[in-house]
Amino acid sequence: MARQVRAFLESESRAGLVAVPRAGGAPASAIPDETPAPKATAIAGEEAPAPIPASRMAEALRQELHAHVATARTLDLFDFGTAQPDEGVSREDALARVAAEVAICDRCPELAAERTHTVPGQGNPRARLVFVGEGPGEEEDRQGLAFVGRAGELLTKMIEAIGMTREEVFIANIIKCRPPGNRLPTPDEAANCMPYLMRQLEVLRPRVICALGGTAAKALLQTHDGITRLRGRFYPYCGVLLMPTFHPAYVLRNYTPDTRKKVYDDLLKVKAELAK
Ligand code: URA
Repeated sequence: MARQVRAFLESESRAGLVAVPRAGGAPASAIPDETPAPKATAIAGEEAPAPIPASRMAEALRQELHAHVATARTLDLFDFGTAQPDEGVSREDALARVAAEVAICDRCPELAAERTHTVPGQGNPRARLVFVGEGPGEEEDRQGLAFVGRAGELLTKMIEAIGMTREEVFIANIIKCRPPGNRLPTPDEAANCMPYLMRQLEVLRPRVICALGGTAAKALLQTHDGITRLRGRFYPYCGVLLMPTFHPAYVLRNYTPDTRKKVYDDLLKVKAELAK
């Protein structure tokens, strides 16, 4: 990714829009907005180019990230099964970089204005199972963490029911900011935010993704089918497997033996797949 941002900046530089510092500076997203970018080295006899403001670097990274996803979605290029990590960047750093980008994201003006915290998602950087929910609720927005409210408590129980722990998995959402009043994310909001999730999945390279609820399942599988129809079986998804199941908030609202058994059965299939 760093190489791609640099290429992007270099293309802008050729167009006279920015000057590019030499390679090896701090990653774009790690630089707070007001910090000057690393000083460019002057080639003997030439004037050193002006440093790029960190905010410009961050914007370049965002544009690159979204362009990357737009292309990959069109060409169906994502393959989380074989994605290669960026050279010399740990998974922890790569995930932190996505979280830093999310923290300054303003692609959805209403969400950016209303949020208390962004909620990039959290968990084990080596997780083989990633849960993807819809979007942060009130408690998640307050804490900046995914699934820490009532639905989150039930998700913890669901994970433990199949003999796993929250520490083993990664938990994220389709959108990283709370929609006001917990309304459904709009298609534009989901599309704006998707690059962050795709990048997280590229870094994590899980074996199984579990989509929690209709919003997540539809957004990931790009279908209009509902969760009742989709749940309970694996779908090949970008080189890995995707299992849609009911959202824990739905289970809480429909706390019947039948609903609980369906979710449990779905998760047992996930567990069996992970054991292969
Ligand atoms: N519901 C979600 O979809 N995600 C959360 O993080 C919390 C509740």
